[in-house]
Amino acid sequence: MDETATTPRVSAAVPGGNVRVLGRSGRTVRLAPDMRDSSGRWFYWRFRSVFPGAGTWRFEFDAPAVGTRGPALRLADGAAWRWLSEAPFASDRAFEWTASGPETVEFCQCIPYSSADFGDFVASLAGNPLVSVGELCRSRKGRTVPLLRIREGTPEAAILLACRHHAQESMASFALEGALRALASDDSRARAMRRRAEIVAVPFVDLDGAEDGDQGKNRVPHDHNRDYGAPGGAHLYPECAAVDGLLDALRPLVALDLHCPWLRGGPTNEHPYLVGVDCARTRPAVRRLASLLERRCPPVAPYRAADTLPFGALWNTAANYADGVSFAAHASAKPFVLLANTLEIPFANFRERTQTPETVRAFGAGVAAALSDFLH
Ligand SMILES: [Zn+2]
Repeated sequence: MDETATTPRVSAAVPGGNVRVLGRSGRTVRLAPDMRDSSGRWFYWRFRSVFPGAGTWRFEFDAPAVGTRGPALRLADGAAWRWLSEAPFASDRAFEWTASGPETVEFCQCIPYSSADFGDFVASLAGNPLVSVGELCRSRKGRTVPLLRIREGTPEAAILLACRHHAQESMASFALEGALRALASDDSRARAMRRRAEIVAVPFVDLDGAEDGDQGKNRVPHDHNRDYGAPGGAHLYPECAAVDGLLDALRPLVALDLHCPWLRGGPTNEHPYLVGVDCARTRPAVRRLASLLERRCPPVAPYRAADTLPFGALWNTAANYADGVSFAAHASAKPFVLLANTLEIPFANFRERTQTPETVRAFGAGVAAALSDFLH
């Protein structure tokens, strides 16, 4: 019997696609993430599976690659992504899917967010005269890297928001959306803030990686978030060179870079947190923003000030930056910056609370409110 006729076809030929099929046995398909130009091991994957008929199949990775609510999935193009499980999902490397008949399902390690999603977001703001979208630069592959500005009146200051220095960290994009929507809204505090400071956002620093489904993390010889003072000096990536130029042109008071942590578990991967920078000058400001985040983030996606990870603790040590300087560290060293930081946003849960695009957008609105308070 032809086994391929009775097992699901697996294809990475989807936007952001990424997977390697290691083998098949019975009703199990063995898989691994495609590391491409990243060193070591990371956990991003996304594929489409065509099921031949009713039945249960198992997808099994060779190392941890399944998060705390199982895979994200959608049943048809254009349908909403959701987690396989609303409750904690035990396995970090395997999941099963029961097809009710011949069907096509797309699976991903996380809920994806691409430039098409950003385009939908921008379209939803059409008609808002405060919002404009232009080009930061061209990517290595010739894509237009977008730059969004929110501006009212003649603000004297600026804040800079960045996202996707690491291509696959898509949950951070929903937080950015939530923050930008709040900052462009009629809310009186948002209005007061944008009259003081223009908001400038780079939604995809590694646009090529986000579109092509790369890990982004740990690219060789260094990734986008180690491209601000790498040995040798010049930027490797045109987006980072452009962001660096923007930093000097805008002289922002605050620069916040949104990321996602490791897949699951450990002391820091299942709650949001600020990542301390080795910069004594800005440390009091980081503490202040942390307490404002605790006050402003919503109950569905809460933030605890005590979760800030100081420089020197756990993974956040000089050894982690041996390949080059991060955006947050580079910006913190600029004398005009009051505060520059990385904000880590988990993929699927903040402790016991399951996260969805909607709740993480609400978290982003909380971040915007905290930033407004910070500058007030
Ligand atoms: Zn990151």
